[in-house]
Amino acid sequence: MALIVQKYGGTSVADAERIRNVAERIARLQHAGNQMVAVVSAMGDTTDDLIALANQITDRPSARELDVLLSTGEIVSSTLVAMALRHLGLDAISLSGLQAGIQTDSTHSRARIRRINPERIHRELDEGRVVIVAGFQGVTEELDVTTLGRGGSDTTAVALAAALRADRCENLKDVEGIYTADPRIVPAARKLRDIGYEEMLELASHGAQVLHPRAVELAQLYNLPITVQSSFNEEPGTLIHAETTMEPTNKVRGIAHDADVAKITVRGVPDRPGIAATLFEPLAARAISVDTIVQNASLENLTDLTFTVSRKDLRAALEIIQPVVLEIGAAGLVTDDEAGKISIVGTGMQNTPGYASRMFRALFDAGINIQLITTSEIRITCIIDQAQVPQAVRALHDAFELEKA
Ligand code: ASP
Ligand code: MG
Repeated sequence: MALIVQKYGGTSVADAERIRNVAERIARLQHAGNQMVAVVSAMGDTTDDLIALANQITDRPSARELDVLLSTGEIVSSTLVAMALRHLGLDAISLSGLQAGIQTDSTHSRARIRRINPERIHRELDEGRVVIVAGFQGVTEELDVTTLGRGGSDTTAVALAAALRADRCENLKDVEGIYTADPRIVPAARKLRDIGYEEMLELASHGAQVLHPRAVELAQLYNLPITVQSSFNEEPGTLIHAETTMEPTNKVRGIAHDADVAKITVRGVPDRPGIAATLFEPLAARAISVDTIVQNASLENLTDLTFTVSRKDLRAALEIIQPVVLEIGAAGLVTDDEAGKISIVGTGMQNTPGYASRMFRALFDAGINIQLITTSEIRITCIIDQAQVPQAVRALHDAFELEKA
């Protein structure tokens, strides 16, 4: 008997019929003798709709209230899946994040899981029940509801699989797996049979929206193999695991893109120790993640410092950074909220020269201007104009021949 943790995304539980399908899928596995825990996202666009609703009340909703509001989306879907299972004659119970024992820190809207007390879930499983857990949420030590950030149900599932020592963790989505690029942009994109944690983490952190980056991080930490597969068919999907292929033939594994980037340039920054810390500490304190950071060489002791944030964080970032700019005596602030980001990822690129130049050549040939460049050992990223992102994805997919296995 295996313990299986599954996660069903919002599209997979978008309406009553799909919820019934999900219940049937879970029921089949339960009947086959497995113990089943399923984590669910909110139905369809529920989370977006709830955010829009809050924004009709105020443009600055309290982070605490917003988290409670958003957590209700997953509660709704979890109860309906449990009802659907009971309708099929199975014993099933839904649990909120609190009931599932998920404790987080108190950073509202992007809380991190601190610990999981899996006792209640184990007890329900021992009683022979299917357990449906509301994803994306937990509670602080004071029992205030928190959410884990958009797409956070993936992280709930992986964290639960680790805490429960599950035999399998499956992410069931409206896509068939991990592709060499977004197939909506590149129809020839190829589904990967498997991919290593590191490559997946780079793809997920740089725009591939298929999997929450922290879910990948956790899976790697616990060396937990996870799959991404479609909830609408039985195709095998993609396995994410500690990879075994020593020398992949194509060294570029995939292309990630993010069309929602904002770029902030602080101009005329005095070149003295401590300035970068003064600028970035307050952003970190508010849990705003800063991505690409570029500081140019200083002329006459003044430098320009450019960094990117997710477009949705631009307003909050500016509110924080404006007073700091005055405080440090910088010349000014320039923002561009129409930037995009394109990355090539592959562990095989490590120690193999020539990938950066091929990428830049391909972008140049496609008439795309590169604004900023950053790299990690297994990734090269360019910041470009948002409008050119799809074109860039296609150009790079072609240039690195990713359609070929
Ligand atoms: N419902 C949340 C969202 O839409 C969490 C999730 O789907 O994983 O972001
Ligand atoms: Mg969702």
